[in-house]
This record gives sequence, structure tokens and C-alpha cells, in this order.
Amino acid sequence: LRATSENEPMRAYAPSMGQIFLRRFQLVTQFRSALENGQISVHYQPKIALPSRQVIGAESLVRWKHPEFGRVDPDEFIPAVEATGLVDVLTDFVMDKGLERVRRWMDRDLRMSIAVNLSVRTLADEEFPDRVKEALDRHRVPPELLTFELTESGVMADPERALPVLRRLHTMGVVLAVDDFGTGYSSLAYLRQLPVDEVKIDKSFVLGMGTDLGDMAVVRSIVELGHSLGLTVVAEGVEDDAARDQLVGMGCDVAQGYLISRPLSEERFEAWLRARTVQVRGARDETVLTL
Ligand code: C2E
Ligand code: MG
Ligand code: MG
Ligand code: MG
Repeated sequence: LRATSENEPMRAYAPSMGQIFLRRFQLVTQFRSALENGQISVHYQPKIALPSRQVIGAESLVRWKHPEFGRVDPDEFIPAVEATGLVDVLTDFVMDKGLERVRRWMDRDLRMSIAVNLSVRTLADEEFPDRVKEALDRHRVPPELLTFELTESGVMADPERALPVLRRLHTMGVVLAVDDFGTGYSSLAYLRQLPVDEVKIDKSFVLGMGTDLGDMAVVRSIVELGHSLGLTVVAEGVEDDAARDQLVGMGCDVAQGYLISRPLSEERFEAWLRARTVQVRGARDETVLTL
């Protein structure tokens, strides 16, 4: 290719394959010490019921504040770490933090669940359900207040190994959700065969709903499909009132997105909750409502 004056500067700034490889290598080798040194934290993003707008729980989203690279996105470091056994250490870390939060909420009479994202690797780990059981017991949290989000591609990577793990988790009473639904295989037959309770519509469709009739049709069909299979339907990427109102009109059960809140650090999430906690007349417990 002949370099033109237009694309020359871009070439100069684009990282080389060697640089990309080196950065990935550094992320993998530094991950364990990053966990130990507190560089890895978990942020929480609320989920609300529709149409009541009651906060029903939060999704755990991991963050890495790297001393050299600054904030590193999970979309970059999770796939790198996934290739190693260390992702199991991450899952246990995130689950432990999340169950500690649920326990604190329970102690305040707040019944809210926590969602943890599972990687392909964890789905193939037959000892994982035992660790989940141990963590639930240790934190004295009922299984229905813990949700695992798994992607279609994660399950399809090795269904023979993933299915027994999923069945055991499901039998324990833990809630299972298919994340990013609509982007992978999304076959109806396959969704029916999985022991899942919840389907999360991928944010790309929800974000496009306002401007693209095709995206709107996809969202509407997933809501209908999910309900006909008896599943709870969650929409992620809800950024404005219009999207929320459309989802309410379609009968979608749960919403998550920047409209309600961005993912927040533990401290900021708790402050966000406290500012919205109300005593509903006649009810014994307090409830968290968003306006
Ligand atoms: P995900 O599980 O599908 O999480 C949703 C992503 O959408 C999050 O990105 C979240 O910050 C973002 N998001 C939420 N609301 C909105 C919105 O209204 N608009 C837009 N544009 N985006 C929104 P994030 O935090 O960068 O996480 C990316 C992915 O990394 C997650 O996708 C999940 O697959 C993975 N991930 C995050 N934490 C963990 C973890 O602890 N373990 C594993 N295995 N994967 C994780
Ligand atoms: Mg991201
Ligand atoms: Mg998720
Ligand atoms: Mg998603």
C-alpha cells in the first residue's frame, strides 16, 4: 500500500502488533498482583423493575485502575485473563464482594439481588458450584438473590461441559441469565434447552430502538419470545425516557442503563441507594425507588 499524506499520521499513532501483544502480556502477568494491590475494584449498576421503577438489584462490573495504562476496560482485560486460570480468581472475588453487599442490604431489610458475569472458563469448571454454595453459606445469602450472567457464545463454546455446571447452579436456586441476547446464536431451540430464568436483550438493540425500526422489532420479539418461555426479560443500555417508555409498552420486566445510573463505585452506589430509599405507607420494609 502506498502511504498518502492523509493516512500517514494515523499509521504513526496506531499501536504495532508487538505493542498490542506486549500490553496484553503485561495485563495477564500483572493481574494477580493487581487484585492483591487493590487496583481491581467492582462497580455496581442498578436494575429496576418496570413499570414500578423499584430497584431490584445491581450488576457487578469489574474495573482495573492500572498504574501505567490508566483505566483499562473489562472488554480488553477479561479476554486476556480468560486464557489463564486467573479468571476463576476474579469470578470468586467479584462474587464474594457482591454477596457481602447483599448481606448488608438484607441487614437493612432491603431485598436486592446481585448479578455476576461468568466467563467461558468458569462455566467449564465443575468445582465452581461448590464454591458458590460455600460463598452463599458463608455470607448467609439465599441463592435466589444471586444471579449469574452468561453469554450464548460462552455456553456454546463447550456445551458438554457448561450444561452440567449450569444445571447444578440452577438446582441450587441461583438465578441464571443469558447476557447480550441477540448477538450470538440466539436460536429458539437452544434457549429452550438451557436451564435459565432470565434473558438480557443486548444493548446494541436497545440503543438503536429510537432510530431503527429493525432494532425495535428485535427488542419486541425478544420480549415476546422470553415471556412465552416463561423468562424474565431485562433490557440493558436504557439511556433515555423514550426507550424506557417503549419498553414499558412492550411489557419488558427490568431495565438497566445510564438513564437509571452509570455503574458506580461501592461507596457511590450506597449513597445513590440511600438517597432513594423510602418507606412505602403500610409496608414494613423500606423500598428503593427511582423517579
Ligand atoms: P455486560 O455484562 O453486557 O455489561 C454491560 C456493559 O454495558 C457494561 O460495560 C456497562 O457499563 C455498559 N452499559 C450499561 N448501561 C449502559 C448504557 O445505558 N449505555 C451504554 N452504552 N452502555 C451501558 P463494561 O462495564 O465496560 O463491561 C463490559 C463487559 O465486560 C460486560 O458486558 C461483561 O461481559 C464483561 N465483564 C464486566 N465485569 C466482569 C466480570 O466481573 N467477570 C466477567 N467474566 N466479565 C465481566
Ligand atoms: Mg465497555
Ligand atoms: Mg452482564
Ligand atoms: Mg450485555
